[in-house]
Formats: sequence, structure tokens, C-alpha cells
Amino acid sequence: MITAEEALAKVLEHTLTSPSISIALENAAGYTLAEDIYADRDFPPFNRVAMDGIAFLFESLEKANSTFPIEAIQFAGEAQKEMHYSLACIEVMTGAVLPLGCDTVIRYEDIRIEEDKGGKLARLTIPVSDIKKGQHIHAQGIDKRAKDILLSKGIRISPAEIAVLATVGKTQVLVQAPPRVAVISTGDELVEVNKTPLAHQIRMSNSYMLASALLPLGIQAKRFHLTDEPEILRERLQEILAQHDVILLSGGVSAGKKDYVPQILRELGVQQLFHKVAQKPGKPFWFGVEASGKAVFALPGNPVSTYLCFCKYALPFISGKISKEQVVLDKAIKFNPPLTYFVPAMSYFKEGIHYANPFEGSGSGDFANLTQCDGFIELPADKSYFEVGEVFTFIRFRS
Ligand code: AMP
Ligand code: MG
Repeated sequence: MITAEEALAKVLEHTLTSPSISIALENAAGYTLAEDIYADRDFPPFNRVAMDGIAFLFESLEKANSTFPIEAIQFAGEAQKEMHYSLACIEVMTGAVLPLGCDTVIRYEDIRIEEDKGGKLARLTIPVSDIKKGQHIHAQGIDKRAKDILLSKGIRISPAEIAVLATVGKTQVLVQAPPRVAVISTGDELVEVNKTPLAHQIRMSNSYMLASALLPLGIQAKRFHLTDEPEILRERLQEILAQHDVILLSGGVSAGKKDYVPQILRELGVQQLFHKVAQKPGKPFWFGVEASGKAVFALPGNPVSTYLCFCKYALPFISGKISKEQVVLDKAIKFNPPLTYFVPAMSYFKEGIHYANPFEGSGSGDFANLTQCDGFIELPADKSYFEVGEVFTFIRFRS
């Protein structure tokens, strides 16, 4: 039997497969980029004036005696102008092209504009030695050169990436489609939530729980329920596999006489990567991958086991994020079996320290208790006594 750590590593050796789709730039935030993005021109595309003021030729400083006749104004959005008299200057605005014949900018704060024989001149109000050649110019291509790679596929698109995409004119962006996820509950004892169960039946809750856990990721999972009949399982699982990228099953993976799920998945060509993990709850967890990369998580049916296995294994696989959160245990726990013990707990802050209060309850079927908790404390398998004040990993399921 593999350890919880090995099981997670095996799951994460595989990557989510889902088709690429083209979507409008406006809707691309939050998606994963599925193409590399290159600069279509230099960044900035011209020598860009970075301060409102005047542009002039640095060489002329010595001869100019701190005054420069103003030849013209260069506004942002105007085609490049040319300075004709080398001892003159041109007024320039932020975002404008640096005029031809100029190489340096001085801010309005450092000059005074004066009337001069029908024209205007700019007079320096700071020492000449304070001016550096090329100052206040955002030089062409200094950030990126045309054809440089700007964004690599695989990154998550945030507003900063949206700005880059807009700048290079991508009105349509190739992104990874959200995976098509099927959530399947199994079990002859389960009835739909709108039915009144008979004495020997219960309402199904797992598929609703898992489907709702995927909504914040932008995934609208499809829910199914299958009874514990091998023919039905085989036929329906084959159809569902064909139409989805990730399958989350619950129930039917333990040692019961009607626990057919692992065997049928293998018969359908899903390669078993492990069955049973040295953990409590969720020991019977099964995981496999189909030839084209579709992942199948067959989780034990007890709702707490289902949820733990989902949070610990399926969610990192689907979201690409693994929690590194740690908590300080606030109550001692004794647990003998050589299994990783995931204990539901409520975390809290006290004097800046992040504690968790374990809630051992009555085992893996004890789902109602999870409503009093915000995560699982992960207690390692190689110890039996867990003392107050020790630090452990926390798998948060509620923020
Ligand atoms: P199994 O893993 O199929 O042996 O199921 C273990 C326990 O979980 C049994 O008591 C089932 O009735 C219960 N269970 C299985 N699936 C669900 C479900 N979808 N909702 C609620 N309880 C379930
Ligand atoms: Mg069952």
C-alpha cells in the first residue's frame, strides 16, 4: 500500500488534459494561456517622452547659456516632428514621440517659459550639471524587442497579462478550456435528493458536494448516478469517459461484494496507478489514467472520505495549486495505526499564531461535523503521539 505522500506525487505526475479554445480578450482573465505570445513590435515602439517638458540636444547645453528658443510642441499621438535649429528646443508631452534632432528631456518643473521677441523661450532653473544626457526618455525597444516572447503558454491570465495581450492586438486568445468533469455517485442504497428514502435507503450527497466544490474553479461538472450493477457500470462509464476529461467517482471501491468500480475501470482501459492509500479516512481510494490522459479518481463513498480525497488529491490536480498552510495543534492526539491521519479541525488565530482544534468525531461517515470545521490536519504516519504545540500541514476547505 502506498503512502499519502506517494499517492499525491503519482497523481501530480499527470497533467490535466482539456481542449484549447479561442475566446474574446475581454473574457480571458482567469483562464490558462494555451499559446505563446510574442511582441509584434518593439516595446516601447518609439523613443517615448516620459515627462512633460522640453526636448533638446544635449550637446547644445554648453553653447545655449541656459536658454532654448521653443520651435514647436510635440503632443502625444502626433507623428514625429523635427527640430531644425540645433540650439532650440521643442515642448514635449508624456507619451509623445521624441522629436528628431533631440536626445534629452527636461521637466517643466526645472524650466521657466519666457516671452521672447514675439516667440517663447525655455530658461533652465536648475544647474546644468543636474541634467543627464538621454534623461526622461523611455528608449525604443528597451523593455522588449519585436518577436521577443512576452507570455508563455501555461500561465494563468490575470489583468497584467490582459494588458500585454491587448498591447499586441490579440482580440481572440487561445486558452485551455475548463476540463469537462463528470461526478458520479454509485450505490444501490442511494436515492435522489427530491425523493423520500425508504427505511434502508439514504439520499445521495457526494455528487452534489463534489460538483459544488468545483464551481469556484469555473467548472460546471455533470452529475450522474449509477447503481451497483456491473453491466450498467461498464456501459455508462464507457460513455461518460468518452465525453469527459476528469472523472470523479464515489463509492464502490472497497472490499464489498458489489464494489465493482476498480475492476470495471481496468476493463475499460483505465490504467490503475494505485488502489488503497495508507491513510485514514479514504484508505480504499483508487486512481487511474486512460490512454489519452483522462484522469479517473475513484473515491471511497463515505462522505468524509470522499471529501478528504477530493481536497487532498483531486483538487490540486484540477486547480494546479497545493496548499502549504501549516497549523499548530491545540489538543494532543493519539493515533496508533501506521496511516496518515487526516483529522477534521477548526483553525483560528491567537496572538498571531495559527492554531487548529481537531474534531475527531465518529469517523468517516460523520459528515455533519465537517460543517463545524474548516480543514483537515495532516498527521504523519510515522508517529503515534501528536503533542500540543506541534506544527502540521493543514488542508483547508473553507476560507
Ligand atoms: P462504499 O464506498 O460504496 O462502500 O460506500 C461507503 C458508505 O458511504 C456507505 O455507507 C454508503 O451508503 C455511503 N455513500 C456512498 N455514496 C454516497 C453518496 N453519494 N452520498 C452519501 N453517502 C454515500
Ligand atoms: Mg457502495
